[in-house]
Amino acid sequence: MLEPSNPLEADSVQRPASDLLPHGRQVDFATLSSPDRWKPEFAVPFNQRVIGEKVLISNDFGDWLLLSKDEFRDFVEGRPQRGEPLYDKLVRTNFVAAEVNRELQAMRWRRKKEYLFYGPTLHAFVLTHRCNHGCQYCHSSIVGMDRYDTDMSIETARRGVDIAFRTTAPGMTIEFQGGEPTANWETLRFIVDYAREKNETEGKILSFALVTNLSLMDDEKLDFLVDRHVQICTSLDGPEDLHNKIRIFRGGNSHATLIEWMQRINQRYIDLGLDPNQYHVEALPTITRPSLSRWKDIVDQFVEVGCRAVFLRKLDPFGFAAKSAKTLGYSMDEFLEFYARAVDYIIDLNRQGVQVMERHAAIMLNKILADDEPNYLDLRIPGGACIGQLGYSPDGSIYSSDEGRFVASMGDDMFRIGSVEDSYDELMGNAATRALVMAGLNDGHPDCVSCVYKPWCGQQVEYNYKTQGSLHGHMRDSTWCKKHKSIFDYLMHKLEAADERDLEMFRLWTTNRRLDHFIL
Ligand code: SF4
Repeated sequence: MLEPSNPLEADSVQRPASDLLPHGRQVDFATLSSPDRWKPEFAVPFNQRVIGEKVLISNDFGDWLLLSKDEFRDFVEGRPQRGEPLYDKLVRTNFVAAEVNRELQAMRWRRKKEYLFYGPTLHAFVLTHRCNHGCQYCHSSIVGMDRYDTDMSIETARRGVDIAFRTTAPGMTIEFQGGEPTANWETLRFIVDYAREKNETEGKILSFALVTNLSLMDDEKLDFLVDRHVQICTSLDGPEDLHNKIRIFRGGNSHATLIEWMQRINQRYIDLGLDPNQYHVEALPTITRPSLSRWKDIVDQFVEVGCRAVFLRKLDPFGFAAKSAKTLGYSMDEFLEFYARAVDYIIDLNRQGVQVMERHAAIMLNKILADDEPNYLDLRIPGGACIGQLGYSPDGSIYSSDEGRFVASMGDDMFRIGSVEDSYDELMGNAATRALVMAGLNDGHPDCVSCVYKPWCGQQVEYNYKTQGSLHGHMRDSTWCKKHKSIFDYLMHKLEAADERDLEMFRLWTTNRRLDHFIL
């Protein structure tokens, strides 16, 4: 017999709802409907989760619906009939097995998984381990500015670029990382010009991104970067006191230098006639313990310097950050509370007409609302290791990703898949690469297979390895899973409660405008 009490409260004892960050939970089928009434042949395979008073269902195509409890019970029991509103709704979203147009869905799946048909698109070159900052959380194995022996040589850079161009991807981004990459300016210049020259015959959709603290910027460097269409990204942790407390610059005031250069660079873009809403220095904050109570200040700072997106990233477990965990670290629950407060504030700002978004939310909404696949490497299946990105170290070692290189900087070469002496085919086809790709699938994870967020989620094998000692990880105890599931829950509760105005705002966050100026 069907239990009349509310089955949607199944495990509410374990997971108390919070107004700030409401959790979803699994439906307790036993109290919803008797198994002898279920008609599994009616539906395509689906997963479910309770969101507020609704039940969220999703399928592997990436379709989803929020159903009332009664609608969900009818769905499970295969009761909806042709011509009924619920049946039509289920057909439109590909949940009725007999009505699915398989060719159409195969084409759609292929479009979203396009990245499976070609090689890595992101090539992160670490130009040096030297840096003039001593940021407390720094991931990389930084050294003093006199350690020129840690610079990438021109010859290593040339071999690296040659390998990068062997990617079968039509488009590729060469990203400059460090240390402070502008400290090895000669190699940076060489890579940009060599890659541009190579591309005259290769014809890739080529772009460059520089991740810099801006402290070594000067007019000559800026002229070069602007002239060669190199996109500039920096690290901004919030207002001056917060930023300078963590990002220690022995040569001066990190925040003041950064803001001055951001303004100058943004003005150069305006002078070129580029829309400042689209073209400006991108900045990323790293969230540390002192940031947790400063969510409003951090968002305000980003808006003030002209950024339209804030990427609220949790301190990760790699490199020096792990050593500083005692003073800078915090629990995942603390981060998620911070995240919810910050995004609530961002939503409030949007309602007042301020254009700003949170990047994590925007990536997820892009998948959920726009049925798109932005190929964000941490949130795709398989994960980005090796076949989405490669990390090139100054000594010529090649890693599965930048994170793989961070693990190496802690003395563990687990993610080294070869070197610039190897061929592209050797790098892509070797046993380590195959193992890392296989581990980055969520179809094999016991918890992921039954998770409603599987169509939009992803794996990062380096994170699993570092936090749980296994490439595959154990999602039930994983902070990776907890973070993503909680943010998905947060967004789904927002979507469930959204009015037309809020939906329009979320749709705006999913609008990806290609930055043509930075594409060669
Ligand atoms: S990692 Fe967690 S949230 Fe993501 S699909 Fe797996 S179980 Fe779901």
